[in-house]
Amino acid sequence: MIVTRCRRIIAILMFAVIWWLPALGQSSSEEKAYVPVLPSVKAKFWKIDPALAYAVKDVGGGVYVISDNMWQSAFLVTDDGVVVFDAPATFGSKIPSAIAKVTDKPIKILVYSHIHKDHIGGSVAFKNIKGLQIVALESVAEFLKEMNDPNRLVPNVTFQSSKTITLGGKTVELTRHFYHSNEGDLFIYVPQAKFMMAVDCVTPGYAPFHGFDITTNFHEYLKLFDELERYDFDTFVGGHLTDVGSKKDVEITKEFTYDVYNTVKRIHNNLDQNAVAAEAAKTVGADNEFALFKAVLDRVTDDSVRELQPRWIDRLAGVDVWLPSHVWTALIYVRWDDKE
Ligand SMILES: [Zn+2]
Repeated sequence: MIVTRCRRIIAILMFAVIWWLPALGQSSSEEKAYVPVLPSVKAKFWKIDPALAYAVKDVGGGVYVISDNMWQSAFLVTDDGVVVFDAPATFGSKIPSAIAKVTDKPIKILVYSHIHKDHIGGSVAFKNIKGLQIVALESVAEFLKEMNDPNRLVPNVTFQSSKTITLGGKTVELTRHFYHSNEGDLFIYVPQAKFMMAVDCVTPGYAPFHGFDITTNFHEYLKLFDELERYDFDTFVGGHLTDVGSKKDVEITKEFTYDVYNTVKRIHNNLDQNAVAAEAAKTVGADNEFALFKAVLDRVTDDSVRELQPRWIDRLAGVDVWLPSHVWTALIYVRWDDKE
């Protein structure tokens, strides 16, 4: 009898779950509507031949950028061979043939900007290139050795903090930074081409991706812009989305980042946290400390997004998509790392 009743209850619960799931999915997708991509950004989308699924653009000085409108890599052609910067998982396997359409020089060097598989997970396509040097930070090589991922070849030329590659009379300057991933990120600079590649920090025309490009170090991210601006470059490649950029894109992302940071700091530091917690206690109870703390953090987040969004929604694409995450990243920094 008890067993029968239990079965009936379980059946009712299962039905309830099945019945609710589509309803929940439906309501959440209907509730959130985002503004369309800005027309000025849309106009700069690259034209991609669907048969190739990538396009190549000559940006001068022997440097070519490859993009599928979502990921970007690049290569430098010299008299003695080609240096490739990153091999994304999406189109990495097509990079050798893309290069062969531009030059008959062999691929000699592959540089990794950082460990993330979306940017170097196509390196396996370079496996059979004889004598290939794979250049990366020592910390990146250590991580990849430990990971033992067949899609990400282990680097065979490593360095600590900076390295200059010289090939066929051209140079590439590599410098270690820590604005994005735990094991470090590179500035990849080709002075003769006035070309700068710094992956996962600035997406020209767009707000940064989630949480300032899922930075693991917002303190370093804040310093990144001044560090970039010290270099003389005309072309900027950030590794993502729909166009290459320039110094102007670095400047506007800096302005956005510091606006978010300063706004969150002001709102957080001026908030009467006791009053917000006391108000929340009326509904969640005075002993529910997590819920009271969350009420305070939610108030800072909501007030910051409400203030910032109108200032940026017409200046960068995707602001409404990621702004709450940017505010949250800045809030963690302001509350736990920053000075008053
Ligand atoms: Zn990354």
